[in-house]
Parts: sequence; structure tokens; C-alpha cells
Amino acid sequence: ETVLAVDGLRKIYNEGTDQANLAIDDVSFEVTKGEFVCIVGPSGAGKTTLLRCISGLAPASRGSVMFEGRSLTSVPDELGLVFQDYSRSLYPWFTNARNIALPLAARRIPKAERAERIQDALDSVALSQVGKMYPWELSGGMQQRVAIARSLSYRPELLLMDEPFASVDAQTRFDLEDLILRVRREREITVVLVTHDIDEAIYLSDRIVVLSQSPSVVKEIVPVALGEV
Ligand code: ADP
Ligand code: ADP
Repeated sequence: ETVLAVDGLRKIYNEGTDQANLAIDDVSFEVTKGEFVCIVGPSGAGKTTLLRCISGLAPASRGSVMFEGRSLTSVPDELGLVFQDYSRSLYPWFTNARNIALPLAARRIPKAERAERIQDALDSVALSQVGKMYPWELSGGMQQRVAIARSLSYRPELLLMDEPFASVDAQTRFDLEDLILRVRREREITVVLVTHDIDEAIYLSDRIVVLSQSPSVVKEIVPVALGEV
């Protein structure tokens, strides 16, 4: 079952001006339900642009993105988003629980269910006790776990992550990688994760989509688990 179908996607920034910049050109790939796909490529290859177009945050110049057979015009409720910069994604003047609660309120989830979803999401990232604390009382890795919990609280079918572990130290990154693998297994969610780190991609994913710089050729690699060799 195809969850995400990207077909002939092109993005030109500042199209029609002398600042026009072709960021991605003719990118196509599909993601099956339950799959963990990593998108890798060098800086400037268009990874973030691709994720923005997939999530509906940026309009594509050409091509289509289908999410569960529907074409995307805005960010759907079944989509979770996690970005690299957790420090800017959490509001410091709100508790962690309220940071998670805000988008749930925007999605009109009733108050009683909100509290249940907040606790469930915090449990999933092993931060059951931090609801009443503020983001700045936590380490960087813990803040990123709160940001992940916020995405999980939407009960997403598809989780899109843009370099989510790039701003933390190596040991924290390994812990977060294992955390996301566990969450993905427990919740049976589909994950598309952007990284410039090929080792991370091999460790995490079922399949790797390689974006190379101009023209944005897409190659696909299937890592083979050592046990299967
Ligand atoms: P990556 O995430 O792989 O580093 P990006 O998607 O950030 O690549 O960038 C791809 C290209 O698009 C680059 O040439 C970059 O300068 C350009 N670009 C990215 N964002 C914008 C923007 N908001 N306006 C204009 N050009 C942009
Ligand atoms: P307030 O108490 O002023 O509503 P909080 O930041 O403490 O502000 O809580 C925000 C929301 O999160 C509320 O809807 C509350 O019910 C819920 N909430 C607060 N703490 C927790 C917690 N530890 N676990 C689950 N939900 C919580």
C-alpha cells in the first residue's frame, strides 16, 4: 500500500525572476506503508526543499505529491513534522505539556483527550515526568524528544523528519536513533527522514533515496541487514 507518491516534483525558488533557483528537478519516488525511508544527499541537493514540498509547507513548481491517494494542498492532520532546530520549535514560555497541547487544540482535540495524548506521547519518548517543566529546563536531546512527542501526539501515519539529530552530540544522537526506531516499531508509523549522514541512513532505513546535486538524479539503495547476508 502506497502512503506517499512523489511524481516529477520540481521546485524553482523565485520562479520567473532573475533570482530563479532550480532546487529540485524531476524527483519521483514512492513510500509504502510502514516503511522507513531516508533521503540523503550533499548540502544544497534539495533535501529540505523536497521535505517542504512533501509536507505541503511549500508549493511545488511542477509535479505532484499524493498522500494516501489525495493530492496535498496543505499540511494534513495525519502528518507529523520534526525539524533540526528543536530550540526554535518549542516555545520557552510554555510548559512542555502545553507545547504539545497547542497544536492538539488547533486540531480541535477535546481537552480531556488532549491530556491523555500528551502523557501517552511523553511516555513514548521516555519523558513521562517533564510535562510540568519548561523546555529550557531540559537538555538539547530531551527537548528534541519533546518535539518528537508533540508530533506523535497527532497520531501521525507519516512522520517527516528533517535532520532531526543534527544538533545533538554523538551519544545523544545514537540514543535518539534507537528511540525513533522503537517508536516506529511500536506505533507502526511510516517515516521519511532527511539526513546528510549516510551511516545514519544505513542504520535507520529500509530504503535510501539519494538526491544528487543538479540534475537531481534519484537513486535508490536498499541496505541489507547483516543478519540476512
Ligand atoms: P539541502 O537541504 O539538501 O541542503 P535545500 O533544499 O536547503 O538543500 O536547498 C536546495 C537549493 O535551494 C539550494 O541551492 C538553496 O540555496 C536553495 N534554496 C533553499 N531554500 C530557498 C529559499 N527559501 N529561497 C531561495 N532558494 C532557496
Ligand atoms: P495549565 O495547567 O495552565 O493548563 P499546563 O502547561 O500545565 O498548563 O498544561 C497544558 C495542558 O497539558 C493542559 O491541557 C493540561 O491538562 C495538560 N497537562 C499538563 N500536564 C500534563 C501532564 N503531565 N501529562 C499530561 N497532560 C498534562
